[in-house]
Amino acid sequence: MGKNIILELSGGLSLLIHQKMTGHLMYGQWQKQGKLWVSQQENAIKADPMNRFLHLIFYLDNGYQLALSDVRKFAKIELWETSELASSKVILSLGPDALDSNLSLSVFQKIILNKKGKIKAVLMDQNVIAGIGNIYADEILFQAKVLPQRPIGSLSELEIKQIYQAMRAILKKAVQLRGTSSSDYRDINGEKGNYVKMLKVYRRTNQPCFNCQNKIQRSIIAQRSSHYCPNCQK
Ligand SMILES: [Zn+2]
Repeated sequence: MGKNIILELSGGLSLLIHQKMTGHLMYGQWQKQGKLWVSQQENAIKADPMNRFLHLIFYLDNGYQLALSDVRKFAKIELWETSELASSKVILSLGPDALDSNLSLSVFQKIILNKKGKIKAVLMDQNVIAGIGNIYADEILFQAKVLPQRPIGSLSELEIKQIYQAMRAILKKAVQLRGTSSSDYRDINGEKGNYVKMLKVYRRTNQPCFNCQNKIQRSIIAQRSSHYCPNCQK
């Protein structure tokens, strides 16, 4: 749900997992050697140093394990009564998932127009729409040709439609390519996500825009770096 992972366990319990900035879950087999947990498989989990910051290992019935690697240790895992989790503030306050099939253009439009502030900050607010982080907000706004600083009130109907369409297309593609590994992110097999090759503006400050050759700019919005083309985006 958005950026939250919910694993339903037996006995009416659920795990609520948020990987935060640098955490990622992996599925594999590890054994403890001295003080270190070492992967028993010759694959990316073993080869890539980013997969070695293990903080938690769950044992599964089939002999495999689910492990959390997190270099900066911001990730959060909580055990909940399943019945209480569904009605908890953390879940109820979330906006609809960005890829939810019930989130039509008209619903999206209503939700967005109800908010104040800069479009980039609103897109990243998990209580408005759940699931859009900093990287994808930058990429969505580039594809929609809208500057991240734009106040909601200044957006035309067409621009909101372009943002909606870019949001759906980019997130679908990103899921298909297993995410963006511009630094630390890895998938469940410890592999890098390939969306990094699709990035048009994120972390491309001062590099030429792929459309117009103008330099990509960077500024801070809602305490996060924003990257955009001052020529293609209005
Ligand atoms: Zn451009």
